[in-house]
Amino acid sequence: MLVRFWGTRGSLPVAQKADTIQAKIARALVAAGGRRFADAAEADAFARAELDFATYGAYGGATSCVEIEGADGAFVVCDMGSGLREFGIDSFRRIAAGHPPVYHLFLSHLHWDHIMGFPFFGPAFNPAATIVIHSGHADAETALRRQQEEISFPVPFEWLKAKFEFVVHRPGEVFEAAGLSVSLVAQHHSHDSYGYRFEKAGRAVIYSTDSEHKMDNMEAEVAFETFFGGADLVICDTMYSLGDTVSLKQDWGHSSNIVAVDLCHAAHARRLVLFHHEPTYADADIQRMHGETIRYEELVRADRPPLEVICAYDGLEVRV
Ligand SMILES: [Zn+2]
Ligand SMILES: [Zn+2]
Repeated sequence: MLVRFWGTRGSLPVAQKADTIQAKIARALVAAGGRRFADAAEADAFARAELDFATYGAYGGATSCVEIEGADGAFVVCDMGSGLREFGIDSFRRIAAGHPPVYHLFLSHLHWDHIMGFPFFGPAFNPAATIVIHSGHADAETALRRQQEEISFPVPFEWLKAKFEFVVHRPGEVFEAAGLSVSLVAQHHSHDSYGYRFEKAGRAVIYSTDSEHKMDNMEAEVAFETFFGGADLVICDTMYSLGDTVSLKQDWGHSSNIVAVDLCHAAHARRLVLFHHEPTYADADIQRMHGETIRYEELVRADRPPLEVICAYDGLEVRV
């Protein structure tokens, strides 16, 4: 399986402002220290080798949208955040190259940041496309139709040309979709949310966002240790720092990087992806949180096998 991140920001899309880019360029020039580069490729090689990610890159600002490639002849996508628009455009390119126009979309929940990309999803207008929308929520179709209503958007749902199918699943149920074995778990979040486990040929990927885990009640988290059990990749809601989750933002429905490491350790997972980044965090803040998470994992690892900690950014690809 190849996991491709089209949107990794939580709650609200964000864009880089001019002063942010200017500060990155200034830091890069200082780091170059007057060095001369023959061409852009040489400068790029220097940047990749010598600069930190917050200086030469950016975590990105599109909201939740993650593709899992490797299913049998269909696109598989988790959530329809603003990253869905770019995925839709890219899927047209792949369909022109022979990929079937079949989409399986899995919804964690119906909050706006997880469905806002749908009105801009080009394949919904393709009469040859089949779009299957999987959800744990019986009101998923209502949510998607409602945001197309005239008061919010000029194109009503009825004008969409693709063949739509809405499938509601129950936690604990195991089903096949697009050549993957799929199951879901109910998560603690306003109006509920669901995490998904995708398995193929002995490999497992977990998509678990907008889920509040509480460190002072780890007994209640046993269900998640089981659900994450032995996973090769766990994409986890790590929106807040530990300080925020135990004080100001307790009961806001999100988790910290610390509890994500604890759960992945307990589940003997191999890799953790930090995901659903707080929109007010600058690239340097997210990078710092990534570093702190790596150090925390090393501190509490004890005799367990190492858990690799990856920080998601728009455009990241991880092979499982
Ligand atoms: Zn969210
Ligand atoms: Zn939410």
